[in-house]
Amino acid sequence: MEDENPIRLMDAIIIAQGNIPSDDDYNNLEEEEEGEEDDNDNYVTDALSNENDDNGDAIRVINAMIVVHNNVDDEEEREDDNNDEGVDDRDNYVADEDDDDEDNENHPDTNEIDSVEIIPDNTFDMTLSTSHSYLGNDLEVLRGRTLLDNGIYMDLPLLADNTVILFPGQTLPMMVKYDARTIDMIRKCMLKERTFGVASFNYDKGLPIGTTAEIYEYSESQRGEGVKMKAKGRQRFKILKIRAGGGRFSADVKILPEIELGPPFFEDRLKSLDCLRIIPTNDIEAKKQNIVTKRESILTPWPAWVYHNYDARRLVIKIHNYLRFVRSRGSNIPTDPIELSYWVAQNVIVKDETKKKLLKFDCAINRLQKESKILEKLFEKLFVCIKCRSKIGKQCDVFPMNMEGPQSAYCNPHGAIHETVTLYKATNIVLRREPPSIECSWFPGYAWTIACCSTCGDHKGWKFTATESHQRPKYFWGLTRASLVWQNPPRKKKKNNHDDDVDDVDDDDEKEYDSDDSAFDENNTDNN
Ligand SMILES: [Zn+2]
Repeated sequence: MEDENPIRLMDAIIIAQGNIPSDDDYNNLEEEEEGEEDDNDNYVTDALSNENDDNGDAIRVINAMIVVHNNVDDEEEREDDNNDEGVDDRDNYVADEDDDDEDNENHPDTNEIDSVEIIPDNTFDMTLSTSHSYLGNDLEVLRGRTLLDNGIYMDLPLLADNTVILFPGQTLPMMVKYDARTIDMIRKCMLKERTFGVASFNYDKGLPIGTTAEIYEYSESQRGEGVKMKAKGRQRFKILKIRAGGGRFSADVKILPEIELGPPFFEDRLKSLDCLRIIPTNDIEAKKQNIVTKRESILTPWPAWVYHNYDARRLVIKIHNYLRFVRSRGSNIPTDPIELSYWVAQNVIVKDETKKKLLKFDCAINRLQKESKILEKLFEKLFVCIKCRSKIGKQCDVFPMNMEGPQSAYCNPHGAIHETVTLYKATNIVLRREPPSIECSWFPGYAWTIACCSTCGDHKGWKFTATESHQRPKYFWGLTRASLVWQNPPRKKKKNNHDDDVDDVDDDDEKEYDSDDSAFDENNTDNN
């Protein structure tokens, strides 16, 4: 191939220069690349049409990608994803021709983020909500951790709760007073591995994927008042058969693996470029590495952006950019690809069906790909009532009141578990005419009042008001995930053409909703 000689020449130069990549090294490569631009433009088509080339290794890499990608049971899901990615890939390909544009496209508008009101002096001790202090301080801390072997089949006690879709790493607090079957199940768990399965399903849609939960703090009332516990999501499992009867509810399950893939094309890389190779942790470093990956992709039938789409580190950077405004408000967002993929699934409001799809993926790269599409234009999205579609909140008002993130599961004294997201503001809400209560408050120092949709009356969550005047924020909203759906903001153009209003970013998650936006004026923001 015509490109081979320049590569060899460049390799020789790099080897002679030593091991520490300097800006000059990258610049030299960049200059060389500019000179070759015309050749590269035709490269993809040349490579694809030339099947006799020695591209076996590269094809194997691509095959591996396809195998991973197809690792989804649901046939429809597979088709959807391939279609979606087709669109995504084309976008990236165009963007790749102009790297500056690509970067700008992936970031929320900085000015827009800066313009949002942030309560700077948050005085709340987030460790209180993270430790679920409302459960009391009489829980026994249990040491040790159970790790089940990947691929094993086992009989797992089951908690079928349709209000929570548990992900690995997520905390599940529980107070069970009256449900004798669940109390019995938890007691039996405590005698064995302290592990049970959590799955959300309806029988019509087949058997779902669930997540094992390991109990790490536990107390049982001696006066017959049930059990209190905290459990942590650990490993995903596939339900093969439900077993019910005789006061017992369990399932035959298979523990699913978490497939970890290294950087794409790593085995077949140009070793002479190793001196320029770093694991990118931000955009600038990723951009520098573009020079290396573009070089290497010349040896394969695919352009560099295909490999970038399967590079977990690049996906992490992209998602961190989308979540910058949440991080700026004090949220710890994981940098490990697997942890981040589960963190996003736990902390972002999406439909139950989308959450279940994310739980199905065996590989963090697939989850991150799907999530990066969901998170596009995250900052502009709205929360609407799941029943009547009234506008309840804005994504840009979300902030964390828990170390684990802006959305966490909490348990009320009746045993109901609510996945709750915290926001500075809410609208179209009416408060119950009861005095605020501090009983069992998930955020100590804040009293709660039940909040309902002002249009349909459906329960949306709670308003939390500070009990002391020096506390900041003075009040905030905790809204239950199950009562909300996402919606893209109405487009200002094309008002006459309703067909065009549906956003194609992730149309299985959110549909554009036609309505008068005036209800979302700042004047209506606070309804107390
Ligand atoms: Zn409503």
